[in-house]
Amino acid sequence: MALNHRVSSGGRPDLAASLLGDERVILMSVKAASNSAIRTIKVSCDRCKQIVDALRGEEFTAGFYDMTKWEKYQRENEQCVCNSCMYADPKYVERWGSCS
Ligand SMILES: [Zn+2]
Repeated sequence: MALNHRVSSGGRPDLAASLLGDERVILMSVKAASNSAIRTIKVSCDRCKQIVDALRGEEFTAGFYDMTKWEKYQRENEQCVCNSCMYADPKYVERWGSCS
């Protein structure tokens, strides 16, 4: 799985999810693997305040960014930021390119 890994894992971290286009596909393959603790969760984005459906495993997140691991892009007191907000972040776009 190479979802929203830390930058250090190399490559654009959300590319797998973007290519598949639907995180449910990932969830199904995750369930097939069955040996890891990956949960579907709802997180509240600290930037736009929306609730988003997301996944969290031990080593990755999908659907949102854990800002404690993305401190380069973190703003004051942010814990979770949804993909949409991250893709709109000027610093993120500068580093990873625009999604469109
Ligand atoms: Zn947001």
